[in-house]
Amino acid sequence: MRDVDILVAGGGPVGMAAALALAAPARRAGARLMLVNAGALEESSEATGDGRAYNLSASSMRMLRALGVWEELDKLAQPVSRIIVTDAPDGKPRPSLLDFDNRDTTDAGGGNPASYIVEAEHLNAALARAVRGTKQIETRAPSAVKHIERQNAFINADVAADGKLRTRLLIVADGRASPLRKALGVKTLTWPHDQSAIVMAVKHEKNHEGRAFEHFRKPGPFAVLPLRGGYRSSLVWNESPHEAARIMGLGKEEFSNELARRFGDELGAAVPEGKAFCYPLSSVLAHEYAGSRFTLVGDAAHGIHPIAGQGVNLGYRGVAVLAQVIDNALRLGLDIGALDVVENYQRRRRFEALAMVAGCAVLNGLFASDNRALRLVRDAGLGLVDAVPPAKRLCVNEAAGSLGELPRLLRGKAFSE
Ligand SMILES: Cc1cc2nc3c(=O)[nH]c(=O)nc-3n(C[C@H](O)[C@H](O)[C@H](O)COP(=O)(O)OP(=O)(O)OC[C@H]3O[C@@H](n4cnc5c(N)ncnc54)[C@H](O)[C@@H]3O)c2cc1C
Repeated sequence: MRDVDILVAGGGPVGMAAALALAAPARRAGARLMLVNAGALEESSEATGDGRAYNLSASSMRMLRALGVWEELDKLAQPVSRIIVTDAPDGKPRPSLLDFDNRDTTDAGGGNPASYIVEAEHLNAALARAVRGTKQIETRAPSAVKHIERQNAFINADVAADGKLRTRLLIVADGRASPLRKALGVKTLTWPHDQSAIVMAVKHEKNHEGRAFEHFRKPGPFAVLPLRGGYRSSLVWNESPHEAARIMGLGKEEFSNELARRFGDELGAAVPEGKAFCYPLSSVLAHEYAGSRFTLVGDAAHGIHPIAGQGVNLGYRGVAVLAQVIDNALRLGLDIGALDVVENYQRRRRFEALAMVAGCAVLNGLFASDNRALRLVRDAGLGLVDAVPPAKRLCVNEAAGSLGELPRLLRGKAFSE
């Protein structure tokens, strides 16, 4: 049986970043590191769909820069200049409730954009290239971690083509459905949102100038995220599952008419650029993020509603904390899979992730509500935030992931080898 010190199971955007983050500490300590992914590394996840574009926070950008991935993405990412939020209960967008100047004014942010929009295919390709260029990471893709068996000092894992491996630490990054989380016996709190998101890129008449729009409609938010090039944006268009299925089944012309009814006037007329994808939405929260010999990262630990575009960002905050915990343990010569080591990761991550998953679900419910009184109170609250510049700055800096005590990768600092 082969020994691997750290086995990362799942090579989505979070698993690949975890392998890259751990490469330098592993090299320094002479630890063997393997990444296994069910598909090719460039291939996107959520059952081979895509069309998604990620809203990457400034702190995620700094981490990707420290991992040597951002240089390639910088040419492809669109910095977000403003975020405009409207209440659009009847479909057509209304005047804005909130208009944010999207600059990260913290010391770490230095007045730079608080977020960037990057198409999923570009992020995956850049991460895959960096993984392949990192000697310390042994890669198996397409392959899969199959049967796993927990023992005191190791987890035994069947890896397709390699046979049986033994690892001191299994990092589970196999996504929202996470078969490995189930195999480890970790329970989840799961709730469906009775919404599906139609995701696609569109071309439009007017230049977006870096503006992102979030129109809060009753069936769910309709987000327009600016893509590089000025005249392209990515949509996250939420509907009831039934309505989303109906729209996905329409012909080209009828589909474009449905799009026009919701798109609004800010960017002129829009036409689909490519294929539309549809994702059923749910939130998933694992009861534990760590146990003896394993940790959960990314959507395997916390799958979140896309209303605030924070799924990958939350995953990257976890990766940055986990890498710091493992780096410390390796420096001190500790057993990296021991419960008291991995529990440090869980302790530092669970509350924030819980607050984010619950916060996004509540926000979604609040905007989808029919209750007039609730809508009035909500709009008054948002009006207040809009009128108070320090409150707006706080919101933007929080979304940039730049507040609080940041692990070194989120400050843009790599680990020494
Ligand atoms: C409509 C929509 C819009 C979104 N918009 C945003 C956004 O704007 N910003 C943002 O930050 N997030 C966004 N998200 C969330 C984001 O997509 C997820 O948080 C992110 O994909 C999670 O990455 P991951 O690497 O944890 O999991 P995944 O991307 O699901 O990757 C899991 C990987 O594990 C592999 N795998 C599965 N089983 C095994 C196995 N047994 N062995 C080996 N490999 C295995 C799979 O092949 C896959 O490659 C959005 C999500 C949706 C649905």
